[in-house]
Amino acid sequence: MPWPNAGHTVAVIEEGRHWRPAQFQRSNPWALRNLYQDQGARAAMGTGGFLPVNGGKGVGGSTLINSAISFKTPASVLKGWRENSGFNPKGDFERLLDEVWSTVGVIVNPEPIQGRNNTIFKQGAEALGLKGGWLERGAPGCTGCGACQIGCPSGGKNSVDRTFLAKALHTNRVGVYADCRVEDLPHDGARVSSATGRLMEPNAQAPAGGFEVKAKRFVLSGGPIGSPRLLKRAGLAPNEHVGQHLHFHPAAGVFGAFDEDILHWKGVSQGYYVDAWDEGYLLETSTVTPDLHYVGLGLPFGPELNAVMADLRKTASAGAMVHDEDTVGVVNANSISLEFGDGDRRRMLAGLRRCAEVYFAAGARYVVSSVAGAGVMRDMAQVNAQLHEDVSFSRITAISSHPMGTCRTGDDPAESVVDPSGLVWGTDNLHVADASVFPSSLGVNPQITVMACGLMIGAEAAARV
Ligand SMILES: Cc1cc2nc3c(=O)[nH]c(=O)nc-3n(C[C@H](O)[C@H](O)[C@H](O)COP(=O)(O)OP(=O)(O)OC[C@H]3O[C@@H](n4cnc5c(N)ncnc54)[C@H](O)[C@@H]3O)c2cc1C
Repeated sequence: MPWPNAGHTVAVIEEGRHWRPAQFQRSNPWALRNLYQDQGARAAMGTGGFLPVNGGKGVGGSTLINSAISFKTPASVLKGWRENSGFNPKGDFERLLDEVWSTVGVIVNPEPIQGRNNTIFKQGAEALGLKGGWLERGAPGCTGCGACQIGCPSGGKNSVDRTFLAKALHTNRVGVYADCRVEDLPHDGARVSSATGRLMEPNAQAPAGGFEVKAKRFVLSGGPIGSPRLLKRAGLAPNEHVGQHLHFHPAAGVFGAFDEDILHWKGVSQGYYVDAWDEGYLLETSTVTPDLHYVGLGLPFGPELNAVMADLRKTASAGAMVHDEDTVGVVNANSISLEFGDGDRRRMLAGLRRCAEVYFAAGARYVVSSVAGAGVMRDMAQVNAQLHEDVSFSRITAISSHPMGTCRTGDDPAESVVDPSGLVWGTDNLHVADASVFPSSLGVNPQITVMACGLMIGAEAAARV
């Protein structure tokens, strides 16, 4: 095909579309079809359960569908990465985090748009004296419509296409080629010569021709599932670590029913958190649309489920996100395998119990959870009996939105996939820059760390052109 190159120095190639906020349709089925990897059906399977692994598709990647929650890399994690993996040899990662923070425009959204789902959780957490606070978010123009995860229709969220990429496009030295799926990276063993793939017909997302992009240097940012798959497919995996060490931040939900209207789908989608990082989890409020709420409840079809759904307006929603330590995942060519760790399972149940406690402290009449068979729980005695630490993983409807670690960084070529500059070991001109280069699980929502990795590795790649 004739390539529409107008002298750009960088071509950004993305399999999904390049959207404008006004095109987002505030509909789950539409978003799953158009903005989610595998139309929302991507999942890891293994030890007695399965775990949906959400990811975005489109220019901006998962930031198109994320909640914009912003945390800097925890200092203890960064210290471990530096000491054990040679991460950030120039020692400027903190400065890069600051640069990301200001570019993304991270703020706390004002209380009037937070919505009752967030303020009632705050009320319960404060009554218990728990450490926590408003979630800082890269959504300075948020209107509190609750639609972050199906595409921000107001443009109030600063997804990457609206920040770093918009700045790059202004230089006129960058071209974005959407609807282009990279399928191979032809090479001579060490040096990649081009990226080849298929053009996707934008509406059907069906193959509609081929392309080849020749360049001096390549940066792979297909995300922690896409990047290792492409490395393996192209025959560029330096060792067996490619696709291994997948961390998830698994999360599951608890819902509290109150005497007042909560309308948890209105307001900031995720606005308040409880910091139990030292115990291995964070609690974060969450917004889900009624259809997703219905499938997330661990209740059998029948009168009890119907009664809980009838309380929907008065129901608040939050969840526990685990800093996974003993869960192991592997990205294979067509599947993702999972061995859910016993410690992580216990930490998740501890988080769910704590979440229930927060709701009771705020005056909840009852709580339900995404643990199958736990039923309606009217006090902490019932919660402790139902969400006890022996509940099996197969009973927990958990999800993951933060895959990471599948092309981990290190200074030992036998133990890692990329060197500290993001260069794939054994190659001359192929870097990886996305959440797959994390040397370990992060423990907090990752977008700020991912973007800072992008700045760090992008600078390394640019310096070598
Ligand atoms: C529902 C959801 C909510 C989240 N909420 C938050 C939050 O509030 N705060 C936070 O910090 N983090 C959040 N995250 C996580 C955060 O968005 C991700 O960790 C981050 O965006 C990962 O960046 P990445 O570059 O690794 O991959 P991605 O952002 O997933 O980007 C990968 C891109 O590569 C494209 N791609 C893959 N393979 C190919 C190929 N072969 N050819 C062409 N293109 C390809 C994909 O289509 C995708 O657009 C959330 C994620 C999800 C899914």
